Amino acid sequence: MAYLNDNYLKLQAGYLFPEIARRVREFCEGNPGAASRLIRCGIGDVTEPLPPAVIAAMHHAVDELSVRETFRGYGHEQGYEFLREKIAQQDYRDRGLEVAADEIFVSDGSKSDCGFILDILGDENKIAITDPVYPVYVDTNVMAGHTGSAGDAGRYEGITYLPCGPENDFVPQPPREPVDIIYLCFPNNPTGAVASRAQLTCWVDYAREHEAIILFDAAYEAYISDPEIPHSIYEISGARECAIEFRSFSKNGGFTGVRCGFTVMPKSLHACTADGRKLPLHPFWHRRWSTKANSVSYPVQRGAEAIYSAEGRSQVGALIDHYMGNARILREAAARAGLQVYGGVNAPYIWVKTLPRLTSWQMFDRMLQELNVVITPGSGFGSCGEGFFRVSAFNSRENAEEVARRLQTVK
Ligand SMILES: *Cc1c(COP(=O)(O)O)cnc(C)c1O
Repeated sequence: MAYLNDNYLKLQAGYLFPEIARRVREFCEGNPGAASRLIRCGIGDVTEPLPPAVIAAMHHAVDELSVRETFRGYGHEQGYEFLREKIAQQDYRDRGLEVAADEIFVSDGSKSDCGFILDILGDENKIAITDPVYPVYVDTNVMAGHTGSAGDAGRYEGITYLPCGPENDFVPQPPREPVDIIYLCFPNNPTGAVASRAQLTCWVDYAREHEAIILFDAAYEAYISDPEIPHSIYEISGARECAIEFRSFSKNGGFTGVRCGFTVMPKSLHACTADGRKLPLHPFWHRRWSTKANSVSYPVQRGAEAIYSAEGRSQVGALIDHYMGNARILREAAARAGLQVYGGVNAPYIWVKTLPRLTSWQMFDRMLQELNVVITPGSGFGSCGEGFFRVSAFNSRENAEEVARRLQTVK
């Protein structure tokens, strides 16, 4: 008899998005007229097509593969040098940050990387995760057997939760007790919050003092407009000794369907063996990639490279301006309607307090039934998300403006 990984039994049913879909379906069946009025501001997926520079590069790459002379088979396990070199230069060295091309590992996206990274980290690590949070960080640790079962409010035994709310501007302080692995995501999904240089410095100092590792998810860094807010954890001195950065082309280049992202694994980052030796993680991350995977396809890497061309950069800039224009429209409309609004300034999400005495799901139903607008209930991202909801700016301008109008009638 073969055994399954029992840790999967601890996972709470993928509840959030299926439950949203169920309630929307039920509402539409009962209200056929309302169905065509429905606007979705729920799922965190981009809506606009790929930048033309990316399309051209991918077409060209496919053509190259069609000819024996330019055909390519397996590429470098870490990703092609042409892409890693551009990433290291433009995302880091041009900003004064020391990152080498061989510290970049190109993957099919940050979601995968968040799970893969656990391959090279020990099972005895004490894990700290913010609440509310991108559910991938929690669930990958559950799958790897790093937690007990889920208790009240869906919190797993063995994880240190870091509450985020208006009282700390949705940026947690380091915990009093020592932890070994810390997940941070700024700009944040779902709260839209950003962390200041001083706040990130506290975390880097904590990590260095406790010899902990920060897993820094910077998927939304391109949405930062405030020049004082760091785009990379490596802008904080000492971070090369304690942080791994995750980046993705999903939200800047619109690659959610194309799939491409990368990790930065500094060669100066060490972790401890069971017998107390400190070893660099870089060779093990490289080994993990060489053994289990082979980066992503050549056309996709050429498409990602095009994001770094002059045209690509300006086209990505226009996409971000579009989404952040929506964010401003939604943020201002919600505030005008008397709602308490957070985020939406350096991130494509606005995080809104529910109306008095309404839970996140009650607010969801109210928005669905009265405004025909689909949002995401904050409680789906963790117990500290209760009493909030997330509105995504990933939409057409027309839809954002219509949602802004409808918000004025919310009560
Ligand atoms: C969208 C998103 C990502 C990117 O995921 P991909 O797998 O690269 O598409 C990473 N982190 C967060 C928090 C996200 O919302």
